[in-house]
Amino acid sequence: MRTIYLDNNATTRVAPEVLEAMIPYFGDLYGNPSSAHSFGGQVGRKIGEAREKVAALIGADPGEILFTSCGTESDNAAVLSALSTQEGKRHVVTSRVEHPAIKGLGLHLSQKGYRVTEVPVNRDGILDMDFYEKSLTPDTAVVSLMWANNETGVLFPVEEAAEMAKQRGILFHTDAVQAGGKIPIDMKKKSAISMLSLSGHKLHAPKGIGVLYVRKGTRFSPLIIGGHQEKGRRGGTENSASIIGLGVACELALRRMEEENTRVKSMRDRLEAELLARIPKSKINGAPSNRLPNTTNISFESVEGEAILLMMDELGICASSGSACTSGSLQPSHVLRAMGVPFTMAHGSIRFSLSVYNTDEDVDFIVRELPPIIEKLRSMSPFWTPEVGVCATAAG
Ligand code: PLP
Repeated sequence: MRTIYLDNNATTRVAPEVLEAMIPYFGDLYGNPSSAHSFGGQVGRKIGEAREKVAALIGADPGEILFTSCGTESDNAAVLSALSTQEGKRHVVTSRVEHPAIKGLGLHLSQKGYRVTEVPVNRDGILDMDFYEKSLTPDTAVVSLMWANNETGVLFPVEEAAEMAKQRGILFHTDAVQAGGKIPIDMKKKSAISMLSLSGHKLHAPKGIGVLYVRKGTRFSPLIIGGHQEKGRRGGTENSASIIGLGVACELALRRMEEENTRVKSMRDRLEAELLARIPKSKINGAPSNRLPNTTNISFESVEGEAILLMMDELGICASSGSACTSGSLQPSHVLRAMGVPFTMAHGSIRFSLSVYNTDEDVDFIVRELPPIIEKLRSMSPFWTPEVGVCATAAG
């Protein structure tokens, strides 16, 4: 059975060019990049080249790039560094729709006695900028706002938010894990962003490699303390193969940015338009005009997202749902809840996230196969009244 993979915000396939570049570093080129001998030194030089390629993707200087183990580590390192370099300040500002990498950290910090403000979003997932501005106080050490939402693809105005923070002497971090490689990012232009996170496995590099951009002049306190690696900012022998692979992935992403924003975007737009036209009571979650080019999150009223996923899985279609089976109860995601998506819609939400490896045939297949799946599930739903096509009871 063919796999039709539209779950690229969860993870991406490793690009063949990336894999090819990495293989020698699992084999003959196993030297330690920090070694004094030239056998290790050649690996160190390759890491240096990768650093330049990563920097080029986001318009940074190579010296501002720090390799980590994942996006989650980068997010943690940024916020915790901001707190430990400004011990007098005890307040963190973030949003209600952050990835658990920041949301979980915020909860941990609030349990440790820090004050954490989560800025709300509206029904379209757009940040409440008035609330944001009012939440910035002299006690605020750091703001951490995601550039692009992993569930809806909605973009936050991070440059504007960073400028507002900078005017008040507040450090600004952005989780750009989903934005990296999909939309242009330029840290060289007059940007007030101090720190930015990326993750390799969202842009066709392997899992287990991340990046933290730290703007020159930003005080930084390491999360992983140990060796001298990464100029003392992140201890631990480098994940050479993955770093080298990530360099190639960033080079490819830069070259494919145009395709991502034209061909991939038009496949996403067609998928969305055709599903909305063929399936009654379906609706996009998130501001349609202000989103990543590859992501759509669609709610199908009165159907269980997990059931849709299971039936699509039988056909080889991979996507994600906006509800997760946690502790026996199907809870809609915190993102859709923060947006105020009604229960019967949030439960039936599916995220499709495309990549340059998708084709028009993938879209055709889903457009053909999904409507009968929804119809079948609705015919079994106690909440669906077919003759009027509405939800009879709104539970919860
Ligand atoms: N931030 C966002 C917005 C994400 O989507 C993810 C992964 O899904 C992460 C952070 C965490 O990245 P990683 O899986 O590399 O830890």
